[in-house]
Amino acid sequence: MGVTNVKKPSKKKTIVLGLKDGFKVILCEKDTNFENSNLGVWTFYCEYCKRKHIHGHGEGHRASHCLLNDKSVFKNDYIITINPNFKCDKKFEVFP
Ligand SMILES: [Zn+2]
Repeated sequence: MGVTNVKKPSKKKTIVLGLKDGFKVILCEKDTNFENSNLGVWTFYCEYCKRKHIHGHGEGHRASHCLLNDKSVFKNDYIITINPNFKCDKKFEVFP
């Protein structure tokens, strides 16, 4: 309850760990402030739409919540994880 030891992603940067099956793998945090945190809500700060993306818990594929679908590198889908050591297929290079 309350304090956790989960490594927290930066509030200012989206942390893309790499690519897996062609999808970007994004490091999320468990949101303990969110009212439904008991349901295991995972979030990350999106530097493209400048807001927090909120997803149900569980590692895996998600449809993007990006508001800037045309411009964002997250325009389609991504994989979310809270494991900083998630095994990716390859490194993610610089944002275009
Ligand atoms: Zn976004």
